[in-house]
Amino acid sequence: MDHSTRQTTSSASSTRVVDVLVPVALNQAYSYRVPRGMELKPGDVVCVPLGPREVVAVVWAENATPDPRLHNRLKDVGEKLDVPPLKEELRHLVDWVSNYTLSARGMVLRMCLRMGENLGPERMRLGVRLVGEPPRRLTPARRRVIEVLSDGLLHGKSEAAREAGVSAGVIDGLVDEGTLAIEVMPPPLAPPAPDPAFEQPEFSSLQRSAVDAMRALAANGSFHVALLDGVTGSGKTEVYFEAIAETVRRARQTLILMPEIALTGQFLDRFAQRFGVRPLEWHSELTPRTRARNWAAIASGEAPVVVGARSALFMPYADLGLIVVDEEHDQAYKQSDGAHYHARDMAVVRARIEKIPIILASATPSVETEVNARKGRYQRVVLPSRFGGQHMPHIEAIDLRRAPPPRGRFISPPLAEQIKFAIEKREQALLFLNRRGYAPLTLCRACGHRFACTICDAWLVDHRFRQRLVCHHCGFSMPRPNICPHCAAEESLVAVGPGVERLQEEAAQLFPEARTMVLSSDLITSIETMRSELNEIAEGRVDIIIGTQLVAKGHNFPRLNLVGVVDADLGLGNGDPRAAERTWQLLNQVIGRAGRDQGRGVGYLQTHQPEHPVMKALIACDREAFYGSEIDARERTGYPPFGRLASLIISAGDRPTAEGFARKLAAIAPIDERIQVLGPAEAPLAVIKGRYRFRLLVKSLRNVDLSDYLREWLAAGPKTKGNLKLEVDVDPQSF
Ligand code: ADP
Ligand code: ZN
Repeated sequence: MDHSTRQTTSSASSTRVVDVLVPVALNQAYSYRVPRGMELKPGDVVCVPLGPREVVAVVWAENATPDPRLHNRLKDVGEKLDVPPLKEELRHLVDWVSNYTLSARGMVLRMCLRMGENLGPERMRLGVRLVGEPPRRLTPARRRVIEVLSDGLLHGKSEAAREAGVSAGVIDGLVDEGTLAIEVMPPPLAPPAPDPAFEQPEFSSLQRSAVDAMRALAANGSFHVALLDGVTGSGKTEVYFEAIAETVRRARQTLILMPEIALTGQFLDRFAQRFGVRPLEWHSELTPRTRARNWAAIASGEAPVVVGARSALFMPYADLGLIVVDEEHDQAYKQSDGAHYHARDMAVVRARIEKIPIILASATPSVETEVNARKGRYQRVVLPSRFGGQHMPHIEAIDLRRAPPPRGRFISPPLAEQIKFAIEKREQALLFLNRRGYAPLTLCRACGHRFACTICDAWLVDHRFRQRLVCHHCGFSMPRPNICPHCAAEESLVAVGPGVERLQEEAAQLFPEARTMVLSSDLITSIETMRSELNEIAEGRVDIIIGTQLVAKGHNFPRLNLVGVVDADLGLGNGDPRAAERTWQLLNQVIGRAGRDQGRGVGYLQTHQPEHPVMKALIACDREAFYGSEIDARERTGYPPFGRLASLIISAGDRPTAEGFARKLAAIAPIDERIQVLGPAEAPLAVIKGRYRFRLLVKSLRNVDLSDYLREWLAAGPKTKGNLKLEVDVDPQSF
């Protein structure tokens, strides 16, 4: 782009200036001049020069008081891209999220513009085709390009360059010689439309009123939050499909958020069974090409239904009509790198801004959502029991104090017996343990040396499949040693505690005939592997499934009737105020995998504290016992949703710097009797990747604008410099 000529022509008459928000870690928009003849309005997607680069950015506002003296220093907008402008609602959301979370506005905008690296949408639409004779000078690079284009079809220019392994210049050269022609790519094929009547199930009488509520909410189309509250297997998905069907009939778009992309695989198939076609996907595993295509289909409105992980929330839907947040309680909705935001909460904000309905679905709602439903802020739509007359699993505790496993083992005799029965009945059993790897700790029997990460405050986890000791916080790993590096003793190293890999070993020893499978995120590396593993299970080629929280969510295992929770106490007692809630949710979810198809499901909780209120509520299947006492406790202590929290994490390469900064910051916290600033204290993980971390916890009454308070405080505070880093987390999910 030749900026110099434009600058001279446009500065002659009155210059228009616009404020453009660029997708970098900045709050404020930059001013650019509008070249003569270019029509621009807020929301338009443009290319602008930023330092040495050109970036895709968005016109945010007309610059109201352009100072003519500055015009000559401003750069021109490069070009206006041929994509739909960002609608006012989405711009409002960006502003809102940035304001609430204290994340830079540019970083929030970046999530709306993820149309594929180096693939601005406008470039995607220019293609090249082989039209003439090969040039006289046929270099190897040119030959490769011609090979790639030998099918005579139109190829994306940058893709053709990438496939041939050449620079764009080689392609330009061939265009100049007349070998290739540049043509405009036809718009991407519109994804086929879901058919609302493709395969509608018969709803049971217990489901019918929920179905009516879903249809009514979608037909009404205005802002409204519904909690779809039904036990695992009650048909929540089937039921919210009716709201989607109604939205499709009204020709508006639906967004379905899932906590993890691993869950989308099975979901796509289920959706296709109901609607005849798959929905569009949006998540981090898409190839750049699919990403660009899907982005365009979302922005043009050609994609009627989009399913995705949390980042799908920020897409520029042409006409969003409904949002569904599946497993709304799930912790994975909290994004904690880059911008810190909770996708469920921000989805409700988006629904409010867009004036559309939103459905939050869960068998174990978050305490926040449950309170909102109790107070009538959200409509509660209940599915009281499992579909098809299936019973909820029966839950029992196994008191590990009375029936301990043998030394060095983790499966208690009563649980082992139940697994044996299950296998004899040709049913599946699931052993749940939320710990990846073989053992969480390795130590030397001779000298007591424990293997710790050198740059984190954490033990190294033994991973036997990979034959390495791994830090779960920074990814550092080393080969499993044979001798102790400390005392040189041989064969003195012992694994302490269980991980799923070790459980598999134990299960294989106890039941040599049984086929076992481990499902854990380090073994499942893609949606495809997850899909094929789940197929193996569904087809009955596995007897004992051993899994981490990856198996707890959403899956249907038709032959599974027994779930053994190996360490039910694992999530309790770490001082986290949400520990009880998490344990309640996780264990309900994982035991809810049992008995969904035929037979009665049973869950066994191996625990040292069967009298703990969470265990008692689980065993009694007493939802009210859990929510009632948890809500009381939150209210008494002023924890969310009865109070608000924010956490400030201050980190630096050395301890005194981090601690000193944290103390200085705490010392100047504005006084407000509604707000407490606790700390600084060492953060729960005091060192990660060689960075020392301190935390300030800010706790306020519910009606306080905590974001505003933080902004004012931090603006007056010492500036972070060097390698000091300050991370603000409004509404932190874990402590
Ligand atoms: P949830 O999401 O509440 O766990 P699902 O929607 O997955 O429940 O339903 C559980 C099982 O019951 C699924 O296999 C689903 O296809 C089936 N199901 C639920 N409702 C119906 C219905 N009305 N007709 C046929 N099958 C149904
Ligand atoms: Zn580490």
